[in-house]
Amino acid sequence: MGNLVAIVGRPNVGKSTLFNRLTGTRQAIVNEEAGVTRDRLYGKAFWNGVEFSVVDTGGYATNSDDIFEEEIRKQVLIAIEEADVIVFVVDVITGVTDYDEGVAELLRRTNKPVLVLVNKVDNHDRIPEASYFYSMGLEDLFPISSINGAGTGEFLDRLVEVFPKENTPEEDVDLPRFTIIGRPNAGKSSILNAFIGEERNIVTPISGTTRDSIYTRYNKFGHDFYLVDTAGVRKKNRVHEDLEFYSVMRAIRAIENADVCMLMIDATRGFEGQDQKIFQLVQRNKKGIVVLVNKWDLIDKDHTTTKKFEEQIRSAMAPFTDFPIVFTSALTKQRIHKAIEKSIEVYNNRNLKITTSQLNEVMLAEIEKNPPPSIKGKFIRIKYVTQLPTQSPAFAFFCNLPQYVKEPYKRFLENKIREHWNFNGLQVQIFMRKK
Ligand code: GDP
Ligand code: GDP
Repeated sequence: MGNLVAIVGRPNVGKSTLFNRLTGTRQAIVNEEAGVTRDRLYGKAFWNGVEFSVVDTGGYATNSDDIFEEEIRKQVLIAIEEADVIVFVVDVITGVTDYDEGVAELLRRTNKPVLVLVNKVDNHDRIPEASYFYSMGLEDLFPISSINGAGTGEFLDRLVEVFPKENTPEEDVDLPRFTIIGRPNAGKSSILNAFIGEERNIVTPISGTTRDSIYTRYNKFGHDFYLVDTAGVRKKNRVHEDLEFYSVMRAIRAIENADVCMLMIDATRGFEGQDQKIFQLVQRNKKGIVVLVNKWDLIDKDHTTTKKFEEQIRSAMAPFTDFPIVFTSALTKQRIHKAIEKSIEVYNNRNLKITTSQLNEVMLAEIEKNPPPSIKGKFIRIKYVTQLPTQSPAFAFFCNLPQYVKEPYKRFLENKIREHWNFNGLQVQIFMRKK
């Protein structure tokens, strides 16, 4: 958990090709399940049983006022600050450029692991040229070809070796972990202060040994949980915070370390594209979600305002619509406890395990009332259903012809599950399996 890799390097060295190679197949599966669109910004990858996240800096919009190289420089600095491992891609065909030297200079100053990939080494003849890149003063260097895959195995072996060790709190590892995420200025640090405030006697910050994320324990009003990466929220970085890349890196780190994410949006701005992107990051990580519409005190309200807001958010995230939305004010503290109660509810829903006998009793009856439509004269018989032992809710329906069960019927099954049990705040995955 929380192995975050940032790919940096100048344009055209092959960052995006590498990103696709690392995340390709698995990404496709993840998206098919979650129904979210693929992009090159963020993906999950696997090597030797280790899961990690990859962010390609080249995919991000940058500030148009800045000169180009300055922007990339910023992205490198953010990557150094926020990622666990930095992968620096250079191009064997062009050789070492001034720009590469500049990036290398920044990277030599960090204590974080840096792996240099000399890309486009498509054949053995180019291997000697790859060694010229040692002149940049970075030790961990791998000649690879992102296009044909040569050398990527050695690189990945090394990558999973250099990930930092876990720093989950030693005690009480089973406590729920919540995090507050969202765009700059939504009110995250304000609500955090409202939650934990100055009451230091009940707040125990546990700082990580190998990472800079911090778990703050909240233990009052009968609740006991960790707020994750609150340091990240509090430690502002005004230089970078208008960069999308920066917000995304921050959000990813917090999401990966949490069970439930409170996505805070600014009511005065509405639910915008970037809010939607952060929401999708939560979905891809299969974490619980609670949406907080903050600064509610600033909104002129009539009896339709809440409903309109809710509809706007849910329709943007459809077909996933079963999640809590809480209208808060960090300023007046309106409903901030409801935000916590909802997060706890979602956490409990995430851990809900329904027995197979209960599931079959309820779901087989529903299926009998509304069987899957027959296709080309073939009848689909669903024989039984079981909940999978996964971290987020997933169900396998066993039947004679799984390939004939289409999306609308799967959605029907999902909705029936949601009617009978509480999976508010969570995506529910439905799999059809051959029996
Ligand atoms: P980015 O701008 O750094 O993301 O670079 P891209 O991934 O878009 O690649 C730039 C160009 O280099 C494309 O034409 C790729 O097909 C090509 N390219 C990427 N990796 C390799 C490689 O390993 N070998 C060769 N020969 N070309 C590559
Ligand atoms: P962050 O960047 O998400 O951590 O946002 P901050 O907590 O720093 O808040 C940004 C600005 O919005 C500050 O000026 C806060 O005082 C203000 N703010 C935060 N929450 C509320 C709220 O619920 N109502 C109002 N009126 N202002 C708020």
